[in-house]
Amino acid sequence: MPAETKQRVIIVGAGPVGLVTANLLTDAGIAILLIETSEALPRDLRASTFHPPTLDMLERFGVVGRMIEQGLICPTWQFRDRSEGVIAQFELVRLSPDTGHPYRLQCEQWRLGEMLFERLKSSALADVRLGTRAIVARQSADGVELDIRLPDGSVETVAGKFLVGADGIGSIVRSAIGAQFDGITIPELYLTLSTTYDFREAMPDLSNISYLSDPREWYVLIRTARVWRVLFPVDAALDDADVTSPERGERLLQGAVPHSQRYAVSHSTAYRVHERVASTYVKHRMAIAGDAAHVNNPLGGMGLNGGIHDAFNLAGKLIEIVHGAPLDTLERYSRQRRKVALAVVQQTALRNRSILNTREPEARKAYHDELRSIVADPEKHRNFVMRTSMIQSLRDTEQVA
Ligand SMILES: Cc1cc2nc3c(=O)[nH]c(=O)nc-3n(C[C@H](O)[C@H](O)[C@H](O)COP(=O)(O)OP(=O)(O)OC[C@H]3O[C@@H](n4cnc5c(N)ncnc54)[C@H](O)[C@@H]3O)c2cc1C
Repeated sequence: MPAETKQRVIIVGAGPVGLVTANLLTDAGIAILLIETSEALPRDLRASTFHPPTLDMLERFGVVGRMIEQGLICPTWQFRDRSEGVIAQFELVRLSPDTGHPYRLQCEQWRLGEMLFERLKSSALADVRLGTRAIVARQSADGVELDIRLPDGSVETVAGKFLVGADGIGSIVRSAIGAQFDGITIPELYLTLSTTYDFREAMPDLSNISYLSDPREWYVLIRTARVWRVLFPVDAALDDADVTSPERGERLLQGAVPHSQRYAVSHSTAYRVHERVASTYVKHRMAIAGDAAHVNNPLGGMGLNGGIHDAFNLAGKLIEIVHGAPLDTLERYSRQRRKVALAVVQQTALRNRSILNTREPEARKAYHDELRSIVADPEKHRNFVMRTSMIQSLRDTEQVA
């Protein structure tokens, strides 16, 4: 086996987390082999929220200007009550001393994926194999091996120095490192509908991102450059066709915001949501990142952002090791990023779900009073947006040994 092949980092998964990792490593002069089971990068609608520190990180790839052109800048976001209106409006301009991007950017994640993929293809250090499935991973004291199934069905074994599992929720690399993936599956499904109707006609003071609580049925409104996306919780016992049927979508939308015409819905998708964190992110020369390592509900938009933050931390540690740092430097990646997933991402997403799901009048009032008191106090307001924009968690990880 050629020496340069043995030194490379193998990455499984060309989602946003794998592509960020691959770009960071090749930029640092490290060869990578990227294995992706899809024949082309998917354009399905998934996450669309980019938080300020994620945009700061992505600047180095020269993609943020184009993401802003194709996306929508959101300087505020709200908690609302369906009957009372705005409960609290959070202002991201308060983060101006701490970020070059004091706003959330709404931009579909596949747009970033395509930009990063194009960038990677121009690197002589990148070997990208689409339509290729990773099957089994092994490691020895000085390297890793991965069996892959090629598009023609044959199996090949590839080798490298390290293996990164950015292979999503069903990660085979997570299995190879023997990590548990404990947690819960949320009882309801999340249904997302995209419509061209402008909800500001019904709610002129609506922010581009709003969480609307209600004792009967909550929902979330997110505006992108082209459509509004509306997220509803729905009964997981329904069959797939029923969940995404046009009749159900129309009923839910009319129930949320009555409208004289039928809603024009361009897209609908329903997905099951989990709250899980892997018991470790690292074993010797193998590491996992992004959805392979942690999954959570999308309320707060922290899953994709947390995955990209993993990728920056992990690639940084791999670069240090290639330049002579001890192998156990990787363990610190696991300690730092697991702590964020458990203490910040899961807690925030669960709390957002709890605020929206709570039906008892007293408990709802207590949540609303607390949110109002946060926006009324400049210091609490700033601390809150530092935390929910994920700037604080990046700072706090520096304290984790
Ligand atoms: C329908 C849907 C809606 C979502 N909506 C939101 C949202 O509104 N807000 C939010 O914050 N998050 C949302 N998420 C979650 C968000 O999309 C993920 O957090 C994000 O995609 C994680 O990126 P990743 O790179 O870790 O994993 P992924 O994007 O899942 O990428 C993993 C890649 O690995 C590849 N792969 C998997 N196994 C193998 C294998 N064995 N061999 C080779 N390749 C493999 C896959 O094909 C895929 O390309 C949503 C997810 C889904 C499914």
